[in-house]
Amino acid sequence: MNDGPRASGENADDPGMAPASSLPGVGPSLRQALEKLGIVRVQDLWFHLPLRYEDRTRLTAIGDLRIGEAAQVEGVVEAIETGFRYRATLRVAITDDSQHTLVLRFFHFHRAQVARLVPGARLRCYGEVRHGQHGPEMVHPQYLVLQGEAAVEECLTPVYPTTEGLGQKRLRGVIDKALARLPPDARLELIPPTLRAPLDLSSLREALLVVHRPPPQADLAALARGAHPAQRRLAFEELLAQHLGLKRLRAQVRSHRAQALHGDVRLRERFLAALPFTLTRAQRRVDAEIARDLALDKPMLRLVQGDVGSGKTVVAALAALAAVAGGRQAALMAPTELLAEQHLRNFRAWFAPLGIDVAWLAGKVQGRARKAALGAVAGGASIVVGTHALMQEGVEFARLGLAIVDEQHRFGVQQRMALRDKTRAADVMPHQLVLTATPIPRTLAMSVYADLDVSALDELPPGRTPVQTVAVSNARRGEVIERIRAACAEGRQVYWVCTIIEESEQLIAQAAEVTFSELSNALPELKIALLHGRMKPSEKQATMDAFKAGGIAVLVATTVIEVGVDVPDASLMVIENAERLGLAQMHQLRGRVGRGSVASGCVLLYQPPLSSLARQRLEAMRETNDGFVIAERDLQLRGPGELLGTRQTGELGFRIADLARDADLLPAVQRIGAAMLQSHPELATRLVARWIGASARFADA
Ligand code: ADP
Ligand code: MG
Repeated sequence: MNDGPRASGENADDPGMAPASSLPGVGPSLRQALEKLGIVRVQDLWFHLPLRYEDRTRLTAIGDLRIGEAAQVEGVVEAIETGFRYRATLRVAITDDSQHTLVLRFFHFHRAQVARLVPGARLRCYGEVRHGQHGPEMVHPQYLVLQGEAAVEECLTPVYPTTEGLGQKRLRGVIDKALARLPPDARLELIPPTLRAPLDLSSLREALLVVHRPPPQADLAALARGAHPAQRRLAFEELLAQHLGLKRLRAQVRSHRAQALHGDVRLRERFLAALPFTLTRAQRRVDAEIARDLALDKPMLRLVQGDVGSGKTVVAALAALAAVAGGRQAALMAPTELLAEQHLRNFRAWFAPLGIDVAWLAGKVQGRARKAALGAVAGGASIVVGTHALMQEGVEFARLGLAIVDEQHRFGVQQRMALRDKTRAADVMPHQLVLTATPIPRTLAMSVYADLDVSALDELPPGRTPVQTVAVSNARRGEVIERIRAACAEGRQVYWVCTIIEESEQLIAQAAEVTFSELSNALPELKIALLHGRMKPSEKQATMDAFKAGGIAVLVATTVIEVGVDVPDASLMVIENAERLGLAQMHQLRGRVGRGSVASGCVLLYQPPLSSLARQRLEAMRETNDGFVIAERDLQLRGPGELLGTRQTGELGFRIADLARDADLLPAVQRIGAAMLQSHPELATRLVARWIGASARFADA
């Protein structure tokens, strides 16, 4: 971390390089919160772009509210009730001129807050409308107690990615201050004018101002679709920065030597003989491709693409075995603790009989246990499994020979760079293997994975039964609950997945809690459990273990279960608000069922009315179980986002670019990228630092 007083001196004439803490009002606590977001310098604030926009330019009558949509309403408090049924709840009923009632529901509240919510008080609130027990309700809406008249907003309200303890308002305030320091275009631009001219892009300064603070006269429809010239301008630059970063990484990595790993035939045979299955043809092919790379003294940079359930883990284990046989360490990193723990169990089961120890290191491993784990890693533990905590400062490997990163789309380019940063100083580089379940078409792969060679695991192990998928309107929720009752009566196990599109883990957890109490009420005879990202890892694990052991019939979960969870007996999945999920995500979720030999089902529960895009997505899910077909359909369908400013960029870690929407920019990105690396390497460096630099340094946030 070098954001001290020296930082501004590195490039004194660049206001973007000044530390964020040089802005008025940024004290130590705000500085820390910003750092968690990867924001260290003023320019990091310029390039911290909104996830979406909220429309608070109008008020909606309570009678006109639509379930599942966010809206702003104004009403008078009719009644307040605090209760402690499953947990502390505050419910506030408000009414407006349309004579309809809306319930606001809170799970966390202070006494001072309750004191202000007296009958007769006038509230303006903004939130997402859900089905409540007695009509529409909002869970944890943002609200304001009005004193007299208050004007509505004049322009769209940007919503930024943020972190706990840093509210949108405060973040907007500090971004305002940073924007005030934007220099004129001539100093802000990093793409040389000769390269830029033929592209007809708008000015960078203008683009930033529009995207952060859309003025009232801006083309709001275009902004909502992500097609505004300002967004295209920034998307181009982001794609270029990423491309440059990856190209440079590849060149850097490949310029180093790696330890050639030839594996040990006898050890491999013992490993394979102990498996309860034989490898598929695809697994054998990919395994051979990896073995060939590992046997060279240049670092491997290989991506294994394979649909959910295609058996990537065992391929990774074989690579790890080669590292161990060569006297080197292998590290396996997963994006979530749950997934990492599952890998740990698999690896231990596979490696223990061979006398190979597997060490465990996750972010939550603290204190003495952490010290011991770090000691083992530094002392040469053969295999280390963990979350991205493995990449954190302070983790030293004695002789890392192979780094395996699972479910790459969750890590993103930034983290990949951090991993390589970490090992760059060493004279011998580890080989790198990346596993991803996101099948993406070739042209895009060339761009997103510009630094990697690609292997495809294009065959599922035998014996899988395709999942029967149906789409059901939420109006028939009761029937779905009956179907669960029937399935569980036959001894089957069920996932109920809660999704809401929100950047806050807290809100998602709350939505899951509401559903959990609903199902607990409706199905009192069944053992139902709750799983979400805000639970302690030990609680999560205990719940997963109980589910796996069959002690839980219905698991109400958020998308923490999206990647990698493997419970072969779970054979029914309900996905709530399916209409709002992208195809790729639905496919990932559905991959959790259909793992055993019993026929499995997936119910996509949607909130009518369906847009035509959502209808087509649900149709695609019903028609096929094939990840590659789904990926292609996804690309065709995506195009303009239908929701206000919602972008499906998250999975690839982009702030503004969308590979489907902005695919037409890629040829120019590759052309200009090559030219910049050739003739303006220093500008390329600054461009990468601007978009990726800070978050790469804080990848563990
Ligand atoms: P993913 O590619 O989604 O990571 P996993 O590696 O978790 O898939 O494998 C999914 C399941 O398939 C696991 O239970 C694993 O043991 C099993 N499996 C892997 N390879 C085979 C195979 N060749 N034959 C049968 N089952 C296999
Ligand atoms: Mg996996």
